[in-house]
Amino acid sequence: MNVLVVNAGSSSLKYQLFDTNTDTVLAKGLCERIGIDGSKIEHKNLIKGNKKAKETPMSDHSVAMQLVVEMLTDAEVGSIKSMSEIEAVGHRVVHGGSYFSKSILLNDEVLEKLELCRDFAPLHTPASIMGIKGCLAVMPNTPQALVFDTAFHQTMPPEAYIYPIPYEYYEKYGVRRYGFHGSSHRYVSAEMAKLLDKPLEETKIVTCHLGNGSSIAAVKGGKVIDTSMGFTPLAGVEMGTRCGDIDPALVAFIAEKEDLTAAQVNDIMNKKSGFLGVSGISSDSRDLEAVINEGPSNPNYERAVLAVNILKHQVKKYIGSYAAIMNGLDAVVFTAGIGENNTALRELILEDMEFLGIELDKEVNAKAKVQPNIIKLSKDSSKTGVYLIPTNEELVIARDTAELAAKA
Ligand code: ADP
Repeated sequence: MNVLVVNAGSSSLKYQLFDTNTDTVLAKGLCERIGIDGSKIEHKNLIKGNKKAKETPMSDHSVAMQLVVEMLTDAEVGSIKSMSEIEAVGHRVVHGGSYFSKSILLNDEVLEKLELCRDFAPLHTPASIMGIKGCLAVMPNTPQALVFDTAFHQTMPPEAYIYPIPYEYYEKYGVRRYGFHGSSHRYVSAEMAKLLDKPLEETKIVTCHLGNGSSIAAVKGGKVIDTSMGFTPLAGVEMGTRCGDIDPALVAFIAEKEDLTAAQVNDIMNKKSGFLGVSGISSDSRDLEAVINEGPSNPNYERAVLAVNILKHQVKKYIGSYAAIMNGLDAVVFTAGIGENNTALRELILEDMEFLGIELDKEVNAKAKVQPNIIKLSKDSSKTGVYLIPTNEELVIARDTAELAAKA
């Protein structure tokens, strides 16, 4: 089935056209600066190997979608002859609240429930809704599915998702841990489970999605029982610009000392913390690595090392605590930008973990980066497996969409 996967931001729209019979990406592209001067679309046909870019005004997401269809059916760079060959559309949606525990086909009732999720992800949900409405305007008769970043985590037990604050906030506002990057954790944990020589129900896997945004999940018997992100994607481990878990009293303390509002402190925790806040140099792990590789003569060396060591320390803690709540550990998976490529950080995280049965093959680890294959990073003698599994969130969206559309 030809499935168009759409990931809409407030001023951008990324898309991929999949043939789900062969799991092949036929084409992909990006619309940028939607609703702003200088909008442009960049499109690539991955089968023919050619591409095309066009600068043209895009007042909203429906104009952007029209251009996507134009590119997909273009005589030169197109993959299909007409729009009717797009058999379904799958949308990435960041937050499904407690309303959505799995992917779902769009209808009026679903759209109404999604509107109720606006409060949970005020930056992301309105963008998803704009993307969905844009597709509805251009392809009103094509089935559309929603695939949620929160859905895979809905299997957590209450002791993992209820915060120990007055229970009425959960009842009144839906305040609880939701977790994010669900499609990624689902994809890599399922790939990992296939490699383990035991029934799925008995598997105990920790998945580490480490990128600009990072989250870790404990996946027992194929189901998430805990994850590091929380009510929002600010919680968990240190990230590019996000602080992760901190003492909640710090928000009021910093607000008072710096004469800021709670919203301003929240902004600092989201955009000026993490690697950027600690190192004072950059949110990108590659920049920190470059400084660290120069050695102590670089004036930024100590704080770059500190920023990386904080993440190392925290990921170790999560792996250990998740092994404890699962009563064992079969495998640890690394994925996303840092998890797939930062060999030095993986080594830091995985050394001195023999008590958990982890023996890293340092030579294999040092070479394992920037490639699309699953790589075993642990020694054959390691009781617990360590694997690099490149994530593929778009494939999860395409497969779910095809499955739902086939039943429609
Ligand atoms: P996002 O959360 O925005 O999807 P990514 O998963 O792309 O982020 O991860 C971005 C992080 O991954 C950055 O810190 C970047 O330094 C790191 N990264 C990405 N590619 C590489 C690479 N080839 N080598 C080392 N680090 C990389």
